[in-house]
Amino acid sequence: MLLRHTPQEITERHALTINPAKTCQPIGAMYAALGVHGCLPHSHGSQGCCAYHRSALTRHYKEPISAGTSSFTEGASVFGGQANLLQAIDNMFTVYEPEVVAVHTTCLSETIGDDLPQIIDKATKDGKIPKGKHVIYANTPSYVGSHVTGFSNMVKGMAMKAETTGVKNGKVNVIPGWVEPADMEEIKRLSGLIGVDIILFPDTSGILNGPLSGEYKMFPEGGTTMAELQSAGDSIGTLALGEWCSADGARYLDTNNKVPCRVLDMPIGLMATDRFVDAMRIIAGVSVPEELSHERGQLVDIISDMHQYFFHKKVALAGDPDQLISMVEFLVSIDMCPTHVVSGTPGKAFAKRIRELTAGLPYEVNVKCDQTADMFLLHQWIKNEPVDLLIGNSYLKYIARDEDIPLVRWGFPILDRQGHQYFPTVGYKGGIRLLEKILNALLDRKDRDDPEQSFELVM
Ligand code: SF4
Repeated sequence: MLLRHTPQEITERHALTINPAKTCQPIGAMYAALGVHGCLPHSHGSQGCCAYHRSALTRHYKEPISAGTSSFTEGASVFGGQANLLQAIDNMFTVYEPEVVAVHTTCLSETIGDDLPQIIDKATKDGKIPKGKHVIYANTPSYVGSHVTGFSNMVKGMAMKAETTGVKNGKVNVIPGWVEPADMEEIKRLSGLIGVDIILFPDTSGILNGPLSGEYKMFPEGGTTMAELQSAGDSIGTLALGEWCSADGARYLDTNNKVPCRVLDMPIGLMATDRFVDAMRIIAGVSVPEELSHERGQLVDIISDMHQYFFHKKVALAGDPDQLISMVEFLVSIDMCPTHVVSGTPGKAFAKRIRELTAGLPYEVNVKCDQTADMFLLHQWIKNEPVDLLIGNSYLKYIARDEDIPLVRWGFPILDRQGHQYFPTVGYKGGIRLLEKILNALLDRKDRDDPEQSFELVM
């Protein structure tokens, strides 16, 4: 029992987090930056931070992640990192020739108070940013927020590059939130089916789920181009998929570029996907295409065929707010019972939303969503109120093993399985995949546990 020291009795903790349900801000900023075509992320801090952020993304996406670092030593920590960042910008554009450098801060550069806009302005005036190339930035102090906040901050940094010419481009900006590259591909496919021309940013499809071609490309073909980002200020509207990951960028465009925005839930599960499809079809002024109705029908068919296996199964979840809100709604809609929910990303609206979604259940769901939310508390809740299924990232495997509960890996990070980059969980097809994973986990467990007289071939 790897977690044998977790006691069942819960005592209140204020100053200690054990196995936090989040990771640090720059990881999200780096992931978002990789969704811009020709972009080299840059970590303004010490080498150790950058190495950690790159390795965290490499372990999840199974792709090499390139990023620069300001390589702070004692001198930069005392006198500030301006000289390091100016040199780094010069080196990166000279040696690697990216289209864009996306700078994010770290705990150290934030603590000493480095002023990114001022340093980038100096780099521009000193001629260190070649003509036609760009630097975007985000402040990502990791002692507040989480990887989700970092993602959101870098998305806002992208939105700050939008320009307004006064001539509308007829497109809709879609900010997908922190989803897998395959999810971004699926959002583009759905938009194409409905007939809406979109600017998706960021877009990591083709970058972090690309093919092995035998030829190394530092900057793969995919990603949102700078021309698209600049044109986002002329779009007819913005759909932000998720309050935590995407709304800040969308609201920035609304306020500064007069591009009206709407914040939707991530299109995960039947109802959230319905709302996304409905919003897109209204924008396009069309009926839902037959192909999409067909996919929706397939998802509904699986729900009705297998409902008896979902019914009243208790689930514990850990992850990020935008994903969890849609997932909890999906689980409730198929008569499963979310029982414990934790997220290390702060946000008061989260617990309220989860309680609204689970209001019809015969018990009050345990929810914690703040900086101190951790897997330790989730484990204690499970010891007091056991569940049938765990849904979340790879760190849940320790609880799964100790408590002998099946685990569906979903979210970030998934360090010990493959497939998440290639198969979407958004949209109707994504819903089918999620149900397949949930069903397989439940039915494998049933096959293992059933006595011989009820061990069935047909299920
Ligand atoms: S928490 Fe701060 S110091 Fe630690 S890796 Fe993240 S940015 Fe660096």
